[in-house]
Amino acid sequence: MADKRAKQIAELIKPLQVKPGSKVNLAKDFDPGHKAGFVKKKDGAKLLRTGIELLADYQARLAAQDTYGVLMCLQALDAGGKDGTIRHVMSGVNPQGVQVSSFKVPSAEELGHDYLWRYACRLPSRGQIGIFNRSHYEEVLVVRVHPENLDRQKLPEDARGKGVWDRRYREINDWERYLSDNGFKVVKLFLNLSKEEQRTRFLRRIDLPEKNWKFSAADVRERTYWDDYQRAFSEMLSATSTEWAPWYVIPADRKWFARICAGAVLVHTLMQIDPRYPMVSPARRQELLIVKGELEAEAPHGAAADPFAAQQERDAAREQDAQAEQAREDMEPEKTAEQGA
Ligand code: AMP
Ligand code: MG
Repeated sequence: MADKRAKQIAELIKPLQVKPGSKVNLAKDFDPGHKAGFVKKKDGAKLLRTGIELLADYQARLAAQDTYGVLMCLQALDAGGKDGTIRHVMSGVNPQGVQVSSFKVPSAEELGHDYLWRYACRLPSRGQIGIFNRSHYEEVLVVRVHPENLDRQKLPEDARGKGVWDRRYREINDWERYLSDNGFKVVKLFLNLSKEEQRTRFLRRIDLPEKNWKFSAADVRERTYWDDYQRAFSEMLSATSTEWAPWYVIPADRKWFARICAGAVLVHTLMQIDPRYPMVSPARRQELLIVKGELEAEAPHGAAADPFAAQQERDAAREQDAQAEQAREDMEPEKTAEQGA
């Protein structure tokens, strides 16, 4: 069963992965409206639920094992659906095991450091899932499309001339490799929205008064740089999808499908780590059994020595009865048919 689900998830996300070393042309290679074999939203609902259940289980094990961490980076153009994706994907997990960090225009303090500093400060610890809502990839996206951002970074002359973007790709790849080698698995999701769907979502934000707060005139100005962003995204995906930190291009025109895919990528990453609950040594187990004996001896008159074990036995017996009853019911129609003959 678990293998079947693992296979289903791997198959769903395989076409979304950017093959390390491949050259991406976003407009040609990835369709924002893709929805795999799913026809309607309700077909995908079951898979989303399964994904969320699996996520909760794997996250609990990741935390208990306390050896690996996961960093999921989310990038998208405005109205790409990052916030909603995070809300849905994380709906089933223990909030203590997740930390979400959003990155805005850098502060004066942040600009006083090297460009990866503020992201390094927000990395997850072992046992945790960290989500970056925007990430260090802004350093080769918005900073590239609007080079005045680079001016503000106070770089020395020879660190900002020609070749700065190729150098940043290399530095980012090296940094992610370092994290991966040290037990922190990095996955990167680009929510790929079409220009027309972005227009629709902006209009929705204007048309619905309760969504007006989300609308910013700056987002519409940013839209005029659409082609520059598509180029910057294509180059970034080509240069920074690696074996140790792959990019996935998530079709984002249908929110429900984007959420299924995002959940699937995260579950897949956790399945690869395959975290296990730590088992205690036989010596420690012996110690526990001695304490068990002491606690059982404290049982008040009339109480079970071990109420938990007693409850487990009752549950098991009830389950067995239910199965026997089901088996009898399954036999019924045959009996009736025989009797009728
Ligand atoms: P939002 O996520 O919509 O709240 O907006 C955050 C804004 O911060 C976006 O317009 C980003 O382009 C901008 N931003 C994020 N990171 C950087 C960065 N490193 N340099 C400049 N602007 C950035
Ligand atoms: Mg915005």
